[in-house]
Amino acid sequence: MASASGSQGLTPTPASNRQDEGHHQILSAGGDYLCPVCRHGQISQLTLMEAFYCSFCRHIFDVSYDEQLVQVVDSPQPSAWRWLGDRWQVSGPQPEAMAIWIIALILAIVPFSLVGLAAYMFPPLPGSRWGWLPMGWSLGVLVIHATLAAWITVEYYQPPFYAANKVRLRRWLARIQLPQQG
Ligand SMILES: [Zn+2]
Repeated sequence: MASASGSQGLTPTPASNRQDEGHHQILSAGGDYLCPVCRHGQISQLTLMEAFYCSFCRHIFDVSYDEQLVQVVDSPQPSAWRWLGDRWQVSGPQPEAMAIWIIALILAIVPFSLVGLAAYMFPPLPGSRWGWLPMGWSLGVLVIHATLAAWITVEYYQPPFYAANKVRLRRWLARIQLPQQG
């Protein structure tokens, strides 16, 4: 179990022994591999530890060489990936995934249905100046809630572009906050 905090001594080796595309390599202590979380940085083994570390998003992974498996240890979702020789495959069941989809669907559909139903049952008077309002409001509700639902979904799945940009955003925020902390 790695409990490394702070970045002192966590200098990963550069991507020197990365092999050509198509060449399979096994997950081993000396290698470095594309980070399965951000798909941007390289993960490599921490000195004297059974753990890997990403040079870009700075996640730490427990590693099992027997199972060719890494598991992120400093994330709310304890996701694991199996190394297939040239890429990662998500390992194990994803029990929350179904719940996330159901929540996202309810969030996107229910408020819109209620507002839309109200607009349908109590239609504005024909030719009324604000006749467009109920339908426009319904669409606004749909857009806002669909955006929320999409955000919940990507926050759960952490697709590579999203994870990498979140790291960039966090660093940018840290940079602009730095002078005030002085
Ligand atoms: Zn990473």
